[in-house]
Amino acid sequence: MNIQNLVRENIRRLTPYSSARDEFAGEARIFLDANENSFGSPLPKDYNRYPDPLQSKIREKMAEMKGVRPSQIFVGNGSDEAIDLLMRIFCRPGRDNIIICPPTYGMYKVSAGINDVAVKDAPLTGDFRLDRSAVRRATGDRSKILFICSPNNPTGNAFPVGEITALAESFPGIVVVDEAYIHFSSVGSMIDRIEELSNLVVLQTFSKAWGLAGLRVGLAFASEEMIELFNKVKPPYNVSGIAQEAVLQALENRERSERTIAEILRERDQLFKDLSELGIVERVYPTDANFVLVKTTDAGAIYRFLLAEGIVVRDRQRVELCAGCLRITVGTPEENESLLGALGRFETGDR
Ligand code: PMP
Repeated sequence: MNIQNLVRENIRRLTPYSSARDEFAGEARIFLDANENSFGSPLPKDYNRYPDPLQSKIREKMAEMKGVRPSQIFVGNGSDEAIDLLMRIFCRPGRDNIIICPPTYGMYKVSAGINDVAVKDAPLTGDFRLDRSAVRRATGDRSKILFICSPNNPTGNAFPVGEITALAESFPGIVVVDEAYIHFSSVGSMIDRIEELSNLVVLQTFSKAWGLAGLRVGLAFASEEMIELFNKVKPPYNVSGIAQEAVLQALENRERSERTIAEILRERDQLFKDLSELGIVERVYPTDANFVLVKTTDAGAIYRFLLAEGIVVRDRQRVELCAGCLRITVGTPEENESLLGALGRFETGDR
Protein backbone atom coordinates (compact mmCIF):
# COMPACT_ATOMS: atom_id res chain seq x y z
CA MET A 1 0.00 0.00 0.00
CA ASN A 2 1.23 3.50 -0.82
CA ILE A 3 0.59 5.34 2.43
CA GLN A 4 1.30 8.72 0.81
CA ASN A 5 -2.16 8.48 -0.78
CA LEU A 6 -3.68 8.43 2.70
CA VAL A 7 -1.74 11.42 4.06
CA ARG A 8 -3.58 14.73 4.38
CA GLU A 9 -2.69 17.08 1.56
CA ASN A 10 -1.53 19.88 3.91
CA ILE A 11 0.78 17.46 5.74
CA ARG A 12 2.24 16.16 2.49
CA ARG A 13 2.99 19.74 1.45
CA LEU A 14 4.23 20.83 4.90
CA THR A 15 7.76 22.12 5.34
CA PRO A 16 8.55 20.90 8.85
CA TYR A 17 10.05 23.15 11.50
CA SER A 18 13.80 22.89 11.56
CA SER A 19 15.13 23.41 15.08
CA ALA A 20 18.58 24.66 16.01
CA ARG A 21 19.47 21.12 17.09
CA ASP A 22 18.24 19.72 13.79
CA GLU A 23 20.45 22.09 11.87
CA PHE A 24 23.53 21.58 14.01
CA ALA A 25 23.92 18.46 16.15
CA GLY A 26 27.72 18.19 16.26
CA GLU A 27 30.36 19.17 18.81
CA ALA A 28 31.24 22.83 19.33
CA ARG A 29 32.96 24.99 21.95
CA ILE A 30 30.28 27.61 22.22
CA PHE A 31 26.57 27.18 21.48
CA LEU A 32 24.85 30.47 20.64
CA ASP A 33 22.35 29.06 18.17
CA ALA A 34 19.21 28.13 20.13
CA ASN A 35 18.54 31.10 22.42
CA GLU A 36 19.17 28.90 25.42
CA ASN A 37 20.46 30.31 28.71
CA SER A 38 24.24 29.86 28.74
CA PHE A 39 24.36 30.70 32.46
CA GLY A 40 22.85 27.35 33.47
CA SER A 41 19.84 26.77 35.68
CA PRO A 42 18.91 26.66 39.37
CA LEU A 43 19.17 22.84 39.33
CA PRO A 44 22.30 20.94 40.35
CA LYS A 45 22.31 19.27 36.97
CA ASP A 46 22.07 21.60 34.02
CA TYR A 47 19.01 21.38 31.85
CA ASN A 48 19.62 24.68 30.12
CA ARG A 49 20.16 23.01 26.74
CA TYR A 50 17.43 21.65 24.49
CA PRO A 51 17.29 17.86 24.29
CA ASP A 52 17.99 15.71 21.23
CA PRO A 53 14.88 16.31 19.06
CA LEU A 54 15.12 12.82 17.52
CA GLN A 55 16.07 10.87 20.67
CA SER A 56 18.85 9.09 18.78
CA LYS A 57 20.31 7.18 21.72
CA ILE A 58 16.97 5.73 22.78
CA ARG A 59 16.13 4.79 19.20
CA GLU A 60 19.48 3.08 18.68
CA LYS A 61 19.09 1.08 21.87
CA MET A 62 15.49 0.12 21.13
CA ALA A 63 16.37 -0.84 17.55
CA GLU A 64 18.97 -3.23 18.88
CA MET A 65 16.52 -4.72 21.38
CA LYS A 66 13.66 -5.12 18.92
CA GLY A 67 15.60 -6.12 15.83
CA VAL A 68 14.52 -3.13 13.73
CA ARG A 69 16.30 -0.04 12.39
CA PRO A 70 16.36 3.25 14.38
CA SER A 71 14.61 4.86 11.40
CA GLN A 72 11.62 2.56 12.08
CA ILE A 73 11.06 3.99 15.58
CA PHE A 74 9.27 7.12 16.77
CA VAL A 75 9.65 8.24 20.40
CA GLY A 76 6.78 10.27 21.77
CA ASN A 77 5.49 12.05 24.85
CA GLY A 78 3.68 8.87 25.88
CA SER A 79 2.02 6.68 23.27
CA ASP A 80 -0.91 9.08 23.58
CA GLU A 81 1.16 11.54 21.54
CA ALA A 82 1.51 8.99 18.75
CA ILE A 83 -2.28 8.44 18.74
CA ASP A 84 -2.87 12.17 18.32
CA LEU A 85 -0.19 12.53 15.64
CA LEU A 86 -1.75 9.70 13.63
CA MET A 87 -5.07 11.58 13.55
CA ARG A 88 -3.33 14.74 12.43
CA ILE A 89 -1.28 13.03 9.72
CA PHE A 90 -4.07 11.03 8.12
CA CYS A 91 -7.53 12.34 9.06
CA ARG A 92 -9.05 15.42 7.48
CA PRO A 93 -11.09 17.20 10.18
CA GLY A 94 -14.82 17.11 9.53
CA ARG A 95 -14.42 14.60 6.70
CA ASP A 96 -12.55 11.42 7.60
CA ASN A 97 -13.20 8.77 10.22
CA ILE A 98 -11.41 6.18 12.29
CA ILE A 99 -12.61 2.72 13.30
CA ILE A 100 -12.37 1.42 16.84
CA CYS A 101 -13.37 -1.92 18.35
CA PRO A 102 -15.18 -1.13 21.60
CA PRO A 103 -14.94 -1.73 24.45
CA THR A 104 -11.43 -0.33 24.09
CA TYR A 105 -9.00 2.33 25.25
CA GLY A 106 -10.84 5.65 25.51
CA MET A 107 -8.21 7.95 24.03
CA TYR A 108 -8.79 6.90 20.41
CA LYS A 109 -12.25 8.41 20.55
CA VAL A 110 -11.20 11.47 22.56
CA SER A 111 -8.26 12.16 20.28
CA ALA A 112 -10.56 11.81 17.27
CA GLY A 113 -13.04 14.20 18.89
CA ILE A 114 -10.32 16.80 19.51
CA ASN A 115 -9.33 16.56 15.86
CA ASP A 116 -12.94 16.70 14.61
CA VAL A 117 -12.62 13.20 13.21
CA ALA A 118 -15.67 10.88 13.23
CA VAL A 119 -15.55 7.50 14.97
CA LYS A 120 -17.11 4.33 13.56
CA ASP A 121 -17.61 1.40 15.90
CA ALA A 122 -16.82 -2.21 15.02
CA PRO A 123 -17.65 -3.72 18.44
CA LEU A 124 -15.95 -6.84 19.75
CA THR A 125 -18.09 -9.95 19.92
CA GLY A 126 -19.76 -10.89 23.23
CA ASP A 127 -16.69 -12.94 24.14
CA PHE A 128 -14.36 -10.02 23.35
CA ARG A 129 -13.06 -11.23 20.01
CA LEU A 130 -12.38 -9.09 16.95
CA ASP A 131 -15.31 -9.07 14.57
CA ARG A 132 -13.88 -8.88 11.06
CA SER A 133 -17.24 -8.51 9.38
CA ALA A 134 -18.12 -5.61 11.73
CA VAL A 135 -14.85 -3.93 10.72
CA ARG A 136 -15.71 -4.49 7.06
CA ARG A 137 -19.19 -3.01 7.55
CA ALA A 138 -17.82 0.05 9.37
CA THR A 139 -15.17 0.71 6.72
CA GLY A 140 -15.90 3.36 4.11
CA ASP A 141 -14.02 5.56 1.64
CA ARG A 142 -13.13 8.00 4.37
CA SER A 143 -11.97 5.44 6.96
CA LYS A 144 -8.32 6.25 7.48
CA ILE A 145 -7.25 4.41 10.63
CA LEU A 146 -8.28 1.19 12.36
CA PHE A 147 -7.25 1.00 16.02
CA ILE A 148 -6.72 -2.45 17.52
CA CYS A 149 -5.67 -2.58 21.15
CA SER A 150 -3.96 -5.89 21.97
CA PRO A 151 -3.95 -6.82 24.81
CA ASN A 152 -7.14 -4.82 24.94
CA ASN A 153 -7.97 -2.29 27.61
CA PRO A 154 -10.32 -2.83 29.51
CA THR A 155 -11.08 -6.47 28.59
CA GLY A 156 -7.48 -7.66 29.11
CA ASN A 157 -7.34 -10.23 26.28
CA ALA A 158 -4.86 -10.19 23.40
CA PHE A 159 -5.98 -11.00 19.87
CA PRO A 160 -4.24 -13.70 17.82
CA VAL A 161 -1.44 -12.29 15.66
CA GLY A 162 -2.95 -14.06 12.63
CA GLU A 163 -6.26 -12.21 13.02
CA ILE A 164 -4.58 -8.83 13.39
CA THR A 165 -2.38 -9.56 10.38
CA ALA A 166 -5.42 -10.52 8.29
CA LEU A 167 -7.07 -7.21 9.20
CA ALA A 168 -3.90 -5.27 8.42
CA GLU A 169 -3.72 -6.99 5.04
CA SER A 170 -7.31 -6.24 4.10
CA PHE A 171 -7.94 -2.80 5.65
CA PRO A 172 -7.58 -0.01 3.07
CA GLY A 173 -6.03 2.44 5.57
CA ILE A 174 -3.59 2.58 8.47
CA VAL A 175 -3.82 -0.17 11.09
CA VAL A 176 -2.60 0.81 14.55
CA VAL A 177 -1.90 -2.02 16.97
CA ASP A 178 -1.64 -0.62 20.48
CA GLU A 179 0.62 -2.97 22.44
CA ALA A 180 0.79 -0.95 25.67
CA TYR A 181 0.36 -4.22 27.65
CA ILE A 182 2.20 -6.63 25.36
CA HIS A 183 4.98 -7.36 27.86
CA PHE A 184 2.44 -9.14 30.07
CA SER A 185 1.13 -11.31 27.24
CA SER A 186 2.12 -14.66 25.83
CA VAL A 187 0.83 -13.53 22.43
CA GLY A 188 3.67 -12.14 20.33
CA SER A 189 4.21 -8.57 19.19
CA MET A 190 3.37 -7.34 15.70
CA ILE A 191 6.67 -5.43 15.47
CA ASP A 192 8.23 -8.04 13.21
CA ARG A 193 5.51 -7.41 10.61
CA ILE A 194 6.31 -3.71 10.03
CA GLU A 195 8.77 -4.60 7.28
CA GLU A 196 6.15 -6.23 5.06
CA LEU A 197 3.04 -4.24 6.10
CA SER A 198 3.53 -0.61 5.09
CA ASN A 199 0.22 0.45 6.70
CA LEU A 200 1.03 -1.03 10.13
CA VAL A 201 1.93 1.06 13.19
CA VAL A 202 2.74 -0.73 16.46
CA LEU A 203 2.55 1.31 19.67
CA GLN A 204 4.38 0.41 22.86
CA THR A 205 5.10 2.38 26.01
CA PHE A 206 7.46 2.77 28.94
CA SER A 207 4.44 3.42 31.19
CA LYS A 208 3.47 -0.17 32.02
CA ALA A 209 6.04 -3.00 32.07
CA TRP A 210 8.91 -0.54 32.52
CA GLY A 211 7.15 1.24 35.39
CA LEU A 212 7.89 4.72 34.01
CA ALA A 213 4.44 6.25 33.51
CA GLY A 214 5.59 9.51 35.12
CA LEU A 215 8.24 10.11 32.46
CA ARG A 216 5.76 10.13 29.56
CA VAL A 217 7.66 8.14 26.95
CA GLY A 218 5.97 6.00 24.32
CA LEU A 219 7.07 4.37 21.09
CA ALA A 220 5.75 3.75 17.62
CA PHE A 221 7.28 1.12 15.32
CA ALA A 222 6.51 1.38 11.60
CA SER A 223 8.01 1.73 8.14
CA GLU A 224 10.64 4.41 7.67
CA GLU A 225 8.20 6.35 5.53
CA MET A 226 5.61 6.39 8.33
CA ILE A 227 8.19 7.43 10.96
CA GLU A 228 9.25 10.33 8.73
CA LEU A 229 5.65 11.54 8.80
CA PHE A 230 5.57 11.35 12.61
CA ASN A 231 8.79 13.35 12.81
CA LYS A 232 7.47 15.91 10.37
CA VAL A 233 4.39 16.65 12.48
CA LYS A 234 5.63 16.24 16.07
CA PRO A 235 6.66 19.25 18.17
CA PRO A 236 10.44 19.74 17.84
CA TYR A 237 11.45 18.75 21.38
CA ASN A 238 8.65 16.36 22.28
CA VAL A 239 10.54 14.26 24.85
CA SER A 240 12.29 16.13 27.67
CA GLY A 241 15.97 15.76 28.46
CA ILE A 242 15.23 14.28 31.89
CA ALA A 243 12.90 11.70 30.37
CA GLN A 244 15.45 10.71 27.72
CA GLU A 245 18.21 10.29 30.30
CA ALA A 246 16.00 8.30 32.63
CA VAL A 247 14.83 5.95 29.88
CA LEU A 248 18.41 5.29 28.82
CA GLN A 249 19.28 4.49 32.41
CA ALA A 250 16.31 2.13 32.68
CA LEU A 251 17.36 0.38 29.50
CA GLU A 252 20.67 -0.43 31.16
CA ASN A 253 18.76 -2.38 33.79
CA ARG A 254 16.53 -4.67 31.80
CA GLU A 255 16.83 -7.46 34.34
CA ARG A 256 14.97 -5.37 36.88
CA SER A 257 11.97 -4.85 34.64
CA GLU A 258 12.03 -8.50 33.58
CA ARG A 259 11.91 -9.51 37.24
CA THR A 260 9.04 -7.09 37.86
CA ILE A 261 7.08 -8.44 34.92
CA ALA A 262 7.52 -12.01 36.23
CA GLU A 263 6.34 -10.91 39.65
CA ILE A 264 3.30 -9.10 38.23
CA LEU A 265 2.40 -12.26 36.29
CA ARG A 266 2.65 -14.37 39.46
CA GLU A 267 0.50 -11.89 41.35
CA ARG A 268 -1.96 -11.77 38.47
CA ASP A 269 -2.45 -15.56 38.64
CA GLN A 270 -2.97 -15.43 42.37
CA LEU A 271 -5.37 -12.49 42.15
CA PHE A 272 -7.29 -14.26 39.42
CA LYS A 273 -7.74 -17.34 41.64
CA ASP A 274 -8.60 -15.38 44.77
CA LEU A 275 -11.10 -13.13 43.03
CA SER A 276 -12.76 -16.13 41.35
CA GLU A 277 -13.50 -17.61 44.76
CA LEU A 278 -15.47 -14.61 45.97
CA GLY A 279 -19.28 -14.86 46.01
CA ILE A 280 -19.62 -11.24 44.84
CA VAL A 281 -17.59 -12.08 41.73
CA GLU A 282 -19.53 -13.56 38.84
CA ARG A 283 -16.60 -13.80 36.47
CA VAL A 284 -12.95 -12.93 36.20
CA TYR A 285 -12.04 -12.56 32.53
CA PRO A 286 -8.82 -14.19 31.30
CA THR A 287 -6.16 -11.53 30.91
CA ASP A 288 -2.91 -10.91 29.01
CA ALA A 289 -2.36 -7.55 30.73
CA ASN A 290 -1.40 -6.20 34.16
CA PHE A 291 -5.06 -5.83 35.13
CA VAL A 292 -8.14 -7.99 35.38
CA LEU A 293 -11.69 -7.25 34.34
CA VAL A 294 -14.06 -8.58 36.97
CA LYS A 295 -17.81 -8.97 36.63
CA THR A 296 -19.43 -8.46 40.02
CA THR A 297 -22.87 -8.63 41.55
CA ASP A 298 -22.94 -4.89 42.31
CA ALA A 299 -20.08 -2.89 40.77
CA GLY A 300 -21.28 0.51 42.04
CA ALA A 301 -21.57 -0.55 45.70
CA ILE A 302 -18.26 -2.43 45.60
CA TYR A 303 -16.51 0.50 43.97
CA ARG A 304 -17.78 2.90 46.65
CA PHE A 305 -16.95 0.48 49.47
CA LEU A 306 -13.38 0.06 48.20
CA LEU A 307 -12.98 3.83 47.90
CA ALA A 308 -14.05 4.26 51.51
CA GLU A 309 -11.33 1.72 52.35
CA GLY A 310 -8.81 3.86 50.47
CA ILE A 311 -8.60 1.54 47.45
CA VAL A 312 -9.32 2.90 43.97
CA VAL A 313 -10.20 0.57 41.13
CA ARG A 314 -11.72 1.50 37.78
CA ASP A 315 -15.49 1.43 37.48
CA ARG A 316 -16.24 0.11 33.98
CA GLN A 317 -19.89 -0.90 34.47
CA ARG A 318 -21.17 1.70 32.02
CA VAL A 319 -18.81 0.61 29.24
CA GLU A 320 -20.43 -1.53 26.54
CA LEU A 321 -20.21 -5.31 27.11
CA CYS A 322 -18.87 -4.54 30.60
CA ALA A 323 -22.06 -4.35 32.72
CA GLY A 324 -21.22 -5.06 36.36
CA CYS A 325 -17.48 -4.82 35.70
CA LEU A 326 -14.60 -3.34 37.60
CA ARG A 327 -11.10 -3.16 36.16
CA ILE A 328 -8.46 -3.91 38.74
CA THR A 329 -4.74 -3.32 38.25
CA VAL A 330 -2.46 -6.03 39.64
CA GLY A 331 -0.65 -4.49 42.59
CA THR A 332 2.10 -5.59 44.96
CA PRO A 333 1.37 -8.65 47.15
CA GLU A 334 0.48 -6.30 50.01
CA GLU A 335 -1.83 -4.20 47.88
CA ASN A 336 -3.59 -7.25 46.47
CA GLU A 337 -4.01 -8.67 49.96
CA SER A 338 -5.58 -5.41 51.14
CA LEU A 339 -7.91 -5.45 48.17
CA LEU A 340 -8.97 -9.03 48.81
CA GLY A 341 -9.41 -8.33 52.52
CA ALA A 342 -11.70 -5.39 51.72
CA LEU A 343 -13.69 -7.43 49.18
CA GLY A 344 -14.05 -10.19 51.78
CA ARG A 345 -15.44 -7.67 54.28
CA PHE A 346 -17.87 -6.36 51.67
CA GLU A 347 -19.04 -9.89 51.04
CA THR A 348 -19.63 -10.82 54.66
CA GLY A 349 -21.44 -7.54 55.25
CA ASP A 350 -18.72 -6.48 57.70
CA ARG A 351 -18.90 -2.88 56.52
N1 PMP B 1 -2.68 2.59 25.13
C1 PMP B 1 -3.38 1.93 26.06
C2 PMP B 1 -4.13 0.73 25.66
C3 PMP B 1 -3.41 2.39 27.38
O1 PMP B 1 -4.14 1.72 28.28
C4 PMP B 1 -2.68 3.54 27.72
C5 PMP B 1 -2.64 4.11 29.11
N2 PMP B 1 -3.59 3.75 29.98
C6 PMP B 1 -1.98 4.19 26.72
C7 PMP B 1 -1.98 3.68 25.43
C8 PMP B 1 -1.23 5.45 26.95
O2 PMP B 1 0.00 5.20 27.43
P1 PMP B 1 1.13 6.30 27.57
O3 PMP B 1 1.38 6.43 29.02
O4 PMP B 1 2.30 5.73 26.81
O5 PMP B 1 0.63 7.58 26.94
